[in-house]
Amino acid sequence: MTLGWNDEEVRGWGMAVRSRARVVRPANAEGVALAFEEVRKSGGSLALRGSGCSYGDAAQNNGGHVLDLSRMNRILSFDPIHGIARVEPGVTIRDLWRHAIQFGFWPKVVPGTMQVSIGGAAAMNIHGKNNFAVGSFGECIRAFTLLLPDGSTARCTREQNQDLFFAAISGFGMFGCFLELELEMKRVHSGRLSVSAIVAKDLGQNLELLEEMQTEADYLVSWIDLHARGAELGRGVLHRADQMQPGADPEGVRYFDPILQDVPTTLFGVVPKGWLWPGMWGAVKLGQVGLVNALKFKAGPSEQRKSPYLQSHCAFHFLLDYVPRWHWMTKPGGLIQFQPFVPKAHAERVLRTLVERCHEASMVPYLGVLKRHRPDPFLMTHSVDGYSMAMDFAVSTSPRKRAALWSLCQRLSEAVLDVGGRFYYAKDAMLLASSFPRIHGAEAVSTFRALKHRVDPRGMLQTDLSRRLLG
Ligand SMILES: Cc1cc2nc3c(=O)[nH]c(=O)nc-3n(C[C@H](O)[C@H](O)[C@H](O)COP(=O)(O)OP(=O)(O)OC[C@H]3O[C@@H](n4cnc5c(N)ncnc54)[C@H](O)[C@@H]3O)c2cc1C
Repeated sequence: MTLGWNDEEVRGWGMAVRSRARVVRPANAEGVALAFEEVRKSGGSLALRGSGCSYGDAAQNNGGHVLDLSRMNRILSFDPIHGIARVEPGVTIRDLWRHAIQFGFWPKVVPGTMQVSIGGAAAMNIHGKNNFAVGSFGECIRAFTLLLPDGSTARCTREQNQDLFFAAISGFGMFGCFLELELEMKRVHSGRLSVSAIVAKDLGQNLELLEEMQTEADYLVSWIDLHARGAELGRGVLHRADQMQPGADPEGVRYFDPILQDVPTTLFGVVPKGWLWPGMWGAVKLGQVGLVNALKFKAGPSEQRKSPYLQSHCAFHFLLDYVPRWHWMTKPGGLIQFQPFVPKAHAERVLRTLVERCHEASMVPYLGVLKRHRPDPFLMTHSVDGYSMAMDFAVSTSPRKRAALWSLCQRLSEAVLDVGGRFYYAKDAMLLASSFPRIHGAEAVSTFRALKHRVDPRGMLQTDLSRRLLG
């Protein structure tokens, strides 16, 4: 039997980087093993792909093969007493929460969209709005089975094949393909969270609030108006969410119904949210993004006054998923995200510098988000004891403007790397190979390269991102 590989254009979620590859979508482990064998025999290269939600080139492979795991999406077992799920890699966060919430469990770590696959979440060691409290996605993985490039499989836990356990989680698909993963979920006593909005007048206050609240809050995320300057630079609105204690929400258990988790797909019950992106597109094209940010900031005090309010887990974590195709507002050039992770001691100065340099270059991101983080034990971790600031830039179709944006981001990255900051490959599209050892340090890079050589001596597993970063 041979697999049918299709020639396709493969692109990052941000639509700004794309390449062509031969793609296959097997539905079971035998198909994945066959894909590995066919590429191995052909001497070609293979990239692994989950839901394709990485913004840049992490799950594409120009001129090579791409193994798309989205059809390997069965929940193999779920223990409703302890909240342990055994899943195939193409199961999404959406599949997982919909199954688990009926038993009063919720994934310990979720990103800003529920579309990501568990395999992709593990490979990038994703973080949520509770990173400062519970760490990264890898910290809730108990075990996994990895298909190695030579066709053998390895079961990995914190005790067994330990080096592969800590490297494959965070290893951006370089060591093997997750075939099956075992995850711990957390008990929740309500299908809703208690949410409060707090206005921050400037960057200093924004960071102070994150710092103060991290000792008691369950989730923290701060929207930041990157268009504000001078004394108001870094102003924004912080959202804090807390889990409900047992019995605190009389309607809590009713909200375990997945249907009640879903946010309405219309505005005011009439306008389909799918119609919103053209309006947002107009704001980007007409240069009104600064005004939109200012209006959002103005709405902050009224939201603060009605706080705390109750919100479903989905509405708090995945609000943007209910605005279909919102990222199309950056068409046709697409978007990139620049997300530096800066150690606490340098955060305010460096983040301020980044915003100022964007203003000087007249390339101001349309969206900014601050989060608090803590380090984790995974080899290629992006996390630090400090803060990240996600900055979303719309990309122009003009080659000159696009090159200027890449060059700006590379200059900004210097300010981050100079103070021991890191970057997150799920969001990256522009880092240079010289950044890789500066992010991770010589020891981690040499461990990474030695392990890669041991399990994949020919370098079969590759992506556009890995070629850009590893040379
Ligand atoms: C709107 C939006 C919001 C987001 N918010 C957050 C956030 O809050 N926090 C955060 O951390 N991230 C966030 N992300 C990024 C996202 O969580 C990561 O990019 C994640 O890795 C995407 O998973 P995926 O299944 O789409 O993987 P892909 O993007 O398809 O692949 C990601 C990596 O995983 C590898 N991979 C995929 N499947 C496997 C497998 N079975 N075995 C081994 N390797 C594999 C790929 O080779 C690639 O290197 C967001 C993305 C979007 C679009």
